Amino acid sequence: MHRTYRNARERACDCRCPIHHGRPRSIYNNPDCHCLATCASQPMTLLAPEINGAVFLDAANALWYVPSLEPGNWDWRYATCVDMGHPQFPASTLIVDFLRETHRGLLPLLYRL
Ligand SMILES: [Zn+2]
Ligand SMILES: [Zn+2]
Repeated sequence: MHRTYRNARERACDCRCPIHHGRPRSIYNNPDCHCLATCASQPMTLLAPEINGAVFLDAANALWYVPSLEPGNWDWRYATCVDMGHPQFPASTLIVDFLRETHRGLLPLLYRL
């Protein structure tokens, strides 16, 4: 049976990242990380070419931004928490609400897959 998860954070990396492969990931700005957006350990992620990167929520529901490096790859060295003063901060409340609401909306579907 296909196993479903409430959260990507419970899942081990499956993208052959040199430091995370086979392990869960809780730190998102490790300079040696090569995790892909499609890695099993990557939380639900909003890909946003408008800001040349992607955004997602960590375990504490804090919003993170990671810049894109080359197609399909991410520059985890410069992944940052979007807080006051961050260029994405003005949009962050909207994005956080969107990601949380979407996560909540998907939960009832999890066990039907
Ligand atoms: Zn990694
Ligand atoms: Zn990975």
